[in-house]
Amino acid sequence: MNGQTPLTELKGIGEKTRKLFEKLGVHTVGELLAFYPRDYEAFQGPVKICQASSGEVCAVQGAVSGIQSEKRTGNLHILNIRVSDDTGCLLLTFFNMPFLKKTLKRGGFYVFRGMVQSRGAERLMEQPKIFSYDDYRKLENKLLPRYSLTKGLTNQALQKYMRQALTFCEFAPEIYSGAILAENGLMSEREALEAIHFPEDQEGLLAARKRLVFDEFFAFLFQMRRNKDFSRQLESGFRLTETADTVRFLERLPFSLTEAQGKVWQEIKEDLEGACCMNRLVQGDVGSGKTIVALLALLMTAANGYQGAMMAPTEVLALQHFETVQGYVKKYGLVFRPVLLTGSMSAGERREAYRRIASGEANLVIGTHALIQEKVQYRSLALVVTDEQHRFGVRQRERLAEKGSQPHILVMSATPIPRTLAIILYGDLQISVIDQLPSNRLPIKNCVVGTAYRPTAYRFIAKEVEKGRQAYVICPQVERPEDEQGGFSGEGGFPMEKGMSMESGISMESGISMEKGMSMENVVDYTEKLKSVLPSHVQVAYLHGKMRPGDKKRIMEEFAAHAIDVLVSTTVVEVGINVPNATVMMVENAERFGLAQLHQLRGRVGRGEHQSYCIFVSANEKEEVMERLKILNKSNDGFFIASEDLRLRGPGELLGVRQSGEFSFQLGDIYSDAAVLQLASREVERIFSEDPGLAREENRALRQYMEDKAKNNVDFRSI
Ligand code: ADP
Ligand code: MG
Repeated sequence: MNGQTPLTELKGIGEKTRKLFEKLGVHTVGELLAFYPRDYEAFQGPVKICQASSGEVCAVQGAVSGIQSEKRTGNLHILNIRVSDDTGCLLLTFFNMPFLKKTLKRGGFYVFRGMVQSRGAERLMEQPKIFSYDDYRKLENKLLPRYSLTKGLTNQALQKYMRQALTFCEFAPEIYSGAILAENGLMSEREALEAIHFPEDQEGLLAARKRLVFDEFFAFLFQMRRNKDFSRQLESGFRLTETADTVRFLERLPFSLTEAQGKVWQEIKEDLEGACCMNRLVQGDVGSGKTIVALLALLMTAANGYQGAMMAPTEVLALQHFETVQGYVKKYGLVFRPVLLTGSMSAGERREAYRRIASGEANLVIGTHALIQEKVQYRSLALVVTDEQHRFGVRQRERLAEKGSQPHILVMSATPIPRTLAIILYGDLQISVIDQLPSNRLPIKNCVVGTAYRPTAYRFIAKEVEKGRQAYVICPQVERPEDEQGGFSGEGGFPMEKGMSMESGISMESGISMEKGMSMENVVDYTEKLKSVLPSHVQVAYLHGKMRPGDKKRIMEEFAAHAIDVLVSTTVVEVGINVPNATVMMVENAERFGLAQLHQLRGRVGRGEHQSYCIFVSANEKEEVMERLKILNKSNDGFFIASEDLRLRGPGELLGVRQSGEFSFQLGDIYSDAAVLQLASREVERIFSEDPGLAREENRALRQYMEDKAKNNVDFRSI
């Protein structure tokens, strides 16, 4: 069995389970092994009841002092039990578990683990897990994996398959030389995979992560190095000249470029006119006005009789750009003949688009990465702009070269990356920075609050909607994850009664989550909740990445057209969306996001003339959590925030929502794993100076690995 072996070779995986895995994008044993846990459940030692603070998950050890109350409403049975230790007492609430009356004997000692809440002076836990002291001891300091599941697949089943895969999979030879492993303190891939799924302790987990993150960064930087060698000093096949079109466009625009925009436009113009192929990155904070600069470059290209393409990471963003351009063409009579090209278009629409691109009838192609697929034949592609993406891969370049063109490349990024990292991550590009916002902007007003603030926030949103404005509400999850939809999750828990195994499934139809508050808000449920609390005329809708492209498009269009007032969404709106009428950004579970990402989200508002507001709601009100979030109050400057993020988030920060955005590595996070990024960069540089062709024996496995990666085109899958 190796990484390519189909999953069905594992014991217990039949057709039904295979289909479930397919939904998770897992088809092979290798893909299963790379399906890392979403987070880990950590079992810390029990605390005294008086130390159990509200809002935190903890374990307490106490004696059962009696049943407080028992009642039944509909098909929900509620049992309240009181426990105490020498420092205080705690109320435990159990749903649909009437048998506990008998199991939890008065005077018995147990460990109870759950989220502590307070109601008045009383502290309570809902649906805690129950352990005997000895069983808890065994779990103590263990980290149990929790996966992002799909309906029908439990966390336990996944762990079972994972153990099998780890036992039977034969791994490819080590790709790094002994020297690289030793100098960077890297464990083997097998050890790393074992420990990422089943860590012995925090330390083992960190070490595993280090190896896997190193792999991701290394592969990425290696490709980038190749890219750099490939594209440096490439002779330009398209030497453009400035025409009256851009000048006229600028004169007719209702605003004038900021000084920073003007400077960057100048730099781009010089590139386009020069003898070498442009390879430039434009970095600018959200709302700094990058689109217009890109459009100027595309306009200059079209005016010279060539084609330009603008590539966006999402269909939603591509469509928005397309509509912006159409608007400008109408208003200012620009020479653009734009065409949209996305993956979700019908075969017929696509064919028509291909035809117009091949004939040169279209001189501006806007779309997702569909626009560089094999089938697209350009007539004279001279400029490719990628928006909100920092990378234009060597494969993508090669692909275009195969089509006979070597276009200029302009990459636009809103990810504010501290300089030390930018040098590494953008090593192959010239960098321009738009370091100034248009002057008509009012600074966004921010607040960082706990969940108790919600009613106020809803009233505020209703008021803004009354004024004709719109709002976003961001939740970290799409829907309630499978393992929280009832029943017990994870291992451990409930070891006392024979024959009452977890698998027999004590189901909780009520859908009350096991550890309330530890779970995250989700878009689907939240939308329902908002509909019920906001006045009925307020139009609420949701948007998330799992929706069908057509539906996403419709929702985004309706929001842009103001048919929707409040949009509940995952971070898919993080990227580039421009609806200047939206003035409220409310982020739930803000504690789960990186500051840089929160800043990106904030950038969705404050894009027009109206005062805008950002409400960051944290479900965890611990001081250090709130302090971190309050950095967002201090500054609206993305660079400052990114560097604070880097300073505050140590590599120990493993839990929570992953930093998404342009640098979407599977595990690695350019901020919190900055140290590993630097190590990987050093090794890549060393290999390129000592053995650029990977010809040496010690680099043979590495060469094979890189070739496979390039073949499968996984290198720029998400980047
Ligand atoms: P981003 O840099 O985040 O991509 P956009 O290009 O989407 O920002 O610009 C945000 C908004 O600012 C758009 O509505 C755009 O028309 C407007 N804008 C761009 N440049 C200026 C400027 N110099 N003055 C005023 N508004 C501007
Ligand atoms: Mg943008």
